[in-house]
Amino acid sequence: MQTIHTIPDFRVWRRSAANKFVAFVPTMGALHEGHASLVREARKFAGPSGLVAATIFVNPTQFGPSEDFSKYPRTLDADAALLARNGCDVLFAPSAEEMYPSIRQFSVQHSTFSVSVDPGPLANILEDAIRPGHFRGVCTIVLKLLNIVQPHKLVMGQKDYQQNAVLRQMIRDLDVPAEHVMCPTIREADGLAMSSRNRYLSADERARAVAIYEALSWAAAQYASGGRDGAALKAGMTQRIQQRGLRVQYAIAAHADTLAEYSTIDGPCVLLVAAVLGTTRLIDNMILP
Ligand code: AMP
Repeated sequence: MQTIHTIPDFRVWRRSAANKFVAFVPTMGALHEGHASLVREARKFAGPSGLVAATIFVNPTQFGPSEDFSKYPRTLDADAALLARNGCDVLFAPSAEEMYPSIRQFSVQHSTFSVSVDPGPLANILEDAIRPGHFRGVCTIVLKLLNIVQPHKLVMGQKDYQQNAVLRQMIRDLDVPAEHVMCPTIREADGLAMSSRNRYLSADERARAVAIYEALSWAAAQYASGGRDGAALKAGMTQRIQQRGLRVQYAIAAHADTLAEYSTIDGPCVLLVAAVLGTTRLIDNMILP
């Protein structure tokens, strides 16, 4: 696997791959089995003659001023080894200066110093209501990376459900010539969704973090046995998460496409949860069949 740090060098690589199918996995590093599964999926999409590209970039413009940008784990050597092991052909790992040469202070407040992508109405709710400017940062960096990598396929994880919805809309509305695919969330043995942020959890917090998966599973079981009352699922999930000492930011049944909260579930549904445990923010979701 080749590792590239600058945009001009990546463009040289991309020209050398001009006739190849390229599948792309963008990440912020601190990679785990969830990311590895995306690389393996990308490998399948690319086939024996295609290529898999991954990026590692901790994007400053999607972090709020009081969020964990500076302490976000950076483990480039281990990440590169994981990517190579799972069939990645090229890693693009640029610096913040390489990606944002015109921005001096990196944070969502300063993203207005440059051209950025308006993420639209899907981004005004849930994650973005709690992390204002987050999806402007996400859309802007993903569009930049798509313009650099120029993939045929963009491979992302269901773990960040709203991010998938916002980016799918961006790709459609801005006619980005890449097809977006969403792959299943990979979980720890007890059900906790794998996340780079799980390493912030103390042993005690790690044991309690499973409350999120248990609440989602409870609501999915209610739904399977005919429960369609969105408010009852919301209250039940919230109570189950809170009783293990997590602070719930949202725990709702929402329309799978519009993400509008259901009072009565009468269409495609996704359960969406965000909760804070100590100083660690965790999100998870479950699509109801
Ligand atoms: P991140 O590095 O957290 O920005 O995530 C990079 C990509 O990996 C995104 O598409 C995430 O949705 C995906 N991802 C993160 N955690 C998981 C997981 N547990 N299972 C599957 N995909 C994941």
